[in-house]
Amino acid sequence: MADTLIRGATLVTCDAADRVLRGDLLIRDGRIAALGRAKAGEKARVIDGRDRIVLPGLVMAHVHLCQVLMRGMADDLPLLDWLRRRIWPLEAAHDEASIRVSAELGLSEMLLAGTTAVLDLGTVHHHDVVFDACVRSGIRAVGGKTLMDAGAGVPRRLKESTARALADAEGLERRWAGHASGRVHYAWIPRFILSCSERLIRGACERARASNAIMHTHAAEHPGERSAVRSALGADDVVLLRRWGLYGPRASIAHGVQLTAAQMKRLAADETRVVHCPSANLKLGSGIAQVARMRAAGVTVGLGADGAPCNNNLDPWLEMRHAALLSSGTVGPGVLPAREVLRLATIDGARVLGLGHEIGSLEVGKRADLVVVGTTAPHAAPAPDAVSTLVYATQARDVEHVFVGGRPVVAAGELTTLDAERVVRVAREQAPRLSRRAKIA
Ligand SMILES: [Zn+2]
Repeated sequence: MADTLIRGATLVTCDAADRVLRGDLLIRDGRIAALGRAKAGEKARVIDGRDRIVLPGLVMAHVHLCQVLMRGMADDLPLLDWLRRRIWPLEAAHDEASIRVSAELGLSEMLLAGTTAVLDLGTVHHHDVVFDACVRSGIRAVGGKTLMDAGAGVPRRLKESTARALADAEGLERRWAGHASGRVHYAWIPRFILSCSERLIRGACERARASNAIMHTHAAEHPGERSAVRSALGADDVVLLRRWGLYGPRASIAHGVQLTAAQMKRLAADETRVVHCPSANLKLGSGIAQVARMRAAGVTVGLGADGAPCNNNLDPWLEMRHAALLSSGTVGPGVLPAREVLRLATIDGARVLGLGHEIGSLEVGKRADLVVVGTTAPHAAPAPDAVSTLVYATQARDVEHVFVGGRPVVAAGELTTLDAERVVRVAREQAPRLSRRAKIA
């Protein structure tokens, strides 16, 4: 691959010192080869960086690719009704064609917005199709099959035997971990404690530890869910998850809205990560996660859009904005400043995915996962401060170029890997068929 030189840009590094530099960025052999002043080889592709900001590729640390086709099919419901009345019947009704286009639709939306890495919660059946779509899209993907073997209201097609769920996941891990030159990583994903037995969660965590894979689940999300967990199991989910093995730097929980101060301290001591999903928490009425408090306690927090039917966008810029504004509105402006919000979506998200040493910041030697955004649209100008511009003013449509491992996946605002027009056309055909099969209408 020839060199790519981005010349004369503002470089927002998200490195340990949060440096913002003016200068060039050189991509060579898939990695960042120089920052500041750089000389490219002959035949280098040159991108004019004037009036543009380069930042690390955004990390969507909690997303459900299989739910993207359900956008707009499950509005205005609280979490457990949302799951039982809409999402589970729809997930159970998926076939290979509907899952493929669901994943492609989400991947198109996210890549065009500058997302370069995802932690995907998967689906019970046909998960090979999701991995295949991720590989074809060019994104960096951490993900795995959704594990479910218990729970009230779970459709029979989604509730597998413990042994079947674990064996199926083992097969997926064998087939996909390390695939596409290391762009694919396996994650063990018990859905949440009310749809999983203790044996399933323990089995998943043991297998994840054996292969050094990521563990991820939902926890401490909604007040109604918390009381259901307490009455069914006699303790909070985070306490039981820890007892059953889901903790440590390779483990993360999505949401954490209901966490107590003592539970935050425990997560910090274990280095268990949390993924904040501000839009989804608001839409499902789950509440507002205390992100600044978690960070002050020492918890690493990433950012996620969650599912399209509880958001309804997969837009990292909206999630950054909501994270920032919710914090200002609840604990005051400046407690979670723009600089820290940007870290949630970049380096800290990369840590949630277990990839903080490879991506998440602009540093020489790291993989060239990065985004070039324009700053001259009326809604973004005059852009006196790059970090402020990114968190409070930039929109997905300002994204011009996106690289994953040095490969251009978006060039001049166009996807190079998937045909976005075709994906939208097929999605519009498949969505009504899916809802008919699910009999939710
Ligand atoms: Zn979720």
